[in-house]
Amino acid sequence: MTSELGDVVVAPADRLAEPLGRLLGTRTANALGKFGLHTAHDLLRHYPRRYSEPGTLTDLSSLVVGEHVTVMAEVRQATVRPMRSRGGSMLQAVVTDGARTLHLTFFAKGAGALRMHESKLRAGRVGLFTGVVGEYRGERQLTHPDYRIIGVDVQDEGEALAEASRPIPIYPAGAAVPSWRVQTSVRTVLDPLTPRDLPDPLPDDVRARHGLAGLHEALRLVHEPATDADWRRGLHRLRYEEAFVLQAELARRRARAAAQPATARPRRGGGLLDDFDARLPFTLTDGQRGVGEEIAGELSRPQPMQRLLQGEVGSGKTVVALRAMLQVVDAGGQAALLAPTEVLAAQHVRTLRALLGPLAEAGFLGGADHATRVALLTGSQTAADRRQNLLDAASGAAGIVVGTHALLGETVQFVDLGLVVVDEQHRFGVEQRDLLRAKGATAPHLLVMTATPIPRTVAMTVFGDLETSTLTQVPAGRSGVVTHVVPAGNQAWTERTWRRAREEVDAGRRVYVVCPRIDADDAPEPGGPEDAGDGADLVREPDDGASPASGRAEAPPARPLRAVTEVVEELRALPVLADVAIGVLHGRMAPDDKDRVMADFASGQVPVLVSTTVIEVGVDVPQATVMVVLDADRFGLSQLHQLRGRVGRGSDPGLCLLVSHAPPATPAGTRLATLAETTDGFVLASVDLELRREGDVLGAAQSGGASSLRLLRVTRDADLIEQARTDARRLVDQDPTLGAWPALVAAIDRQLAGEREEFLERS
Ligand code: ADP
Ligand code: MG
Repeated sequence: MTSELGDVVVAPADRLAEPLGRLLGTRTANALGKFGLHTAHDLLRHYPRRYSEPGTLTDLSSLVVGEHVTVMAEVRQATVRPMRSRGGSMLQAVVTDGARTLHLTFFAKGAGALRMHESKLRAGRVGLFTGVVGEYRGERQLTHPDYRIIGVDVQDEGEALAEASRPIPIYPAGAAVPSWRVQTSVRTVLDPLTPRDLPDPLPDDVRARHGLAGLHEALRLVHEPATDADWRRGLHRLRYEEAFVLQAELARRRARAAAQPATARPRRGGGLLDDFDARLPFTLTDGQRGVGEEIAGELSRPQPMQRLLQGEVGSGKTVVALRAMLQVVDAGGQAALLAPTEVLAAQHVRTLRALLGPLAEAGFLGGADHATRVALLTGSQTAADRRQNLLDAASGAAGIVVGTHALLGETVQFVDLGLVVVDEQHRFGVEQRDLLRAKGATAPHLLVMTATPIPRTVAMTVFGDLETSTLTQVPAGRSGVVTHVVPAGNQAWTERTWRRAREEVDAGRRVYVVCPRIDADDAPEPGGPEDAGDGADLVREPDDGASPASGRAEAPPARPLRAVTEVVEELRALPVLADVAIGVLHGRMAPDDKDRVMADFASGQVPVLVSTTVIEVGVDVPQATVMVVLDADRFGLSQLHQLRGRVGRGSDPGLCLLVSHAPPATPAGTRLATLAETTDGFVLASVDLELRREGDVLGAAQSGGASSLRLLRVTRDADLIEQARTDARRLVDQDPTLGAWPALVAAIDRQLAGEREEFLERS
């Protein structure tokens, strides 16, 4: 962490980079180091988690053990003595309100450390004493109380009372470093600093426009507030800063990308796109047409398009993307389509080849004369297969190259990469986009597609460097999906579920059964690296009081979660499913096996598929009508919506059964009920956002720095994020590199440093 600060633009005398050991002593510094706090900057940015009501002035007779109190009392005596049993020394003082007494106890290694207290706590002096009431040998006591002696620490009673009514910052803390010790450490570091030591990342005019506190003031307000209004004002400013710093970086990336020259790929008549449109077995929706125009226009310009296409599940994003790719191929370029899983990449290739027909059979018998080819590149192809596809990409024979992460590899080359489409962006980071972009001679145009609708604030936070297009309509003629919550363990319901599955199969349709785990040994955590689809995104319940510093671990559920390997055995043994072929699909299978299973399912040879969430995104089998999700409460709302979107895609109505042990009145039960009631993905996305923890919404891999947000909540701070974006874009318009704003650049580097490390570790 200290090394991160090394290459940051810093103020001449960078007091913020100073290690805490020098400021606070090794012992305290080591303890704070356990929270990841190593420098003055780290500590100052370790914000209180909340503020407790100041203790009220209390009559000593009414003290209750465990309560946080402030009492005004007179010192009767104070004595320092060694502790025989524990070593070290202790100071014990007795204070009184005239009738009752209260003991104050301080411990220290040596007697010297207690002399300061002893000199202040002289008999006859009056002070305010603050702490949590304890009890020792029948006496009420405060251990290490905070106190102000009138005439010494404060001038008079009025000032003392003002002190005592301050809100008390409560820090994320632990046994090794209690909150009060964090508080004193912060004061020790902050008090000697002046505004000059704390260069403000926010430009003056931005601050002035919104009436925001300066950085130095804000930190004082947050760490040492005199009133509640103080810390609110301080936090507001720091929250705004967080939004602004992130938006400034996104604006800078946007400006940087826009400044690169791109090759214009205007629409050419009489090519693949026209032929494709003529072959299309359906008419485009108004949305597809409108967004298509927008994209076609941007592709015709010599600046790289940077666009996010988001849309309702099943709204037909793939066709929009394919038409963009064909425009680029017609204009002499190539297009790459990056998919998050091998299953999806393989499906895309099948879909594209089916939609294109002879248009994708260049060099083959029956291929159209201006045809192209669709190549596939995944990590696990046979060497021969891979070589052929690499060759097609590098020679330009393939106008369209589809692949997983393997596309990012160094060996993959294009003749003239004109467009990069990233499907289901959820699982790709900003840096991965950049890697692909770098494969073009000029900057390729970029189209990013999300799996599900996302709320506007998330779009601004996670994809803030992109312009957004939205498809809200689904094509006409879909019969839709009916959703029911099914109580797990209810025999009658269970029987009905599988009988219904049987009926669908007999009618020539298909059934998905989704489980949260692969097998009994498999943790229900984000899946293995070979396939990001498995179990990724499983929901963690919100835990409100959690400190930013606390881990994300949760208690393991008491009941084992349903696993693919177990469920498939159970179903195969069910009389009602006798003679029905049941397949298995999960991320640990070999890619060839996965492909075969998906193909058999699509063809109807294996009409029931038990799987993990590998089928969550994008899989398109029109005859699939039933989606059974086991332990449905383990999945997020958007994810369930995505799963549900796999059925009811053809003319037959879909049925989604959410099987769960969660009682209706619990948060999990509510989430499922919401899903059963609502089919609008945009509504669900905002509900989901309310229900889930920030980190889960913005997960590191998809964010543009969003995982480093500490104060900002995309649910609550929509207006603020919007404002910050406007301000940041205005600033970047004037100064695209932010060269004139070193404090802002330093703040960007700090806020996003963790992000980059994480990426480097992963790649
Ligand atoms: P998503 O937006 O969820 O990725 P897809 O692109 O997979 O949706 O499209 C879902 C299905 O709808 C596909 O089978 C596709 O061929 C079909 N489709 C796309 N556009 C239309 C349309 N305008 N009319 C009818 N069907 C369409
Ligand atoms: Mg899709």
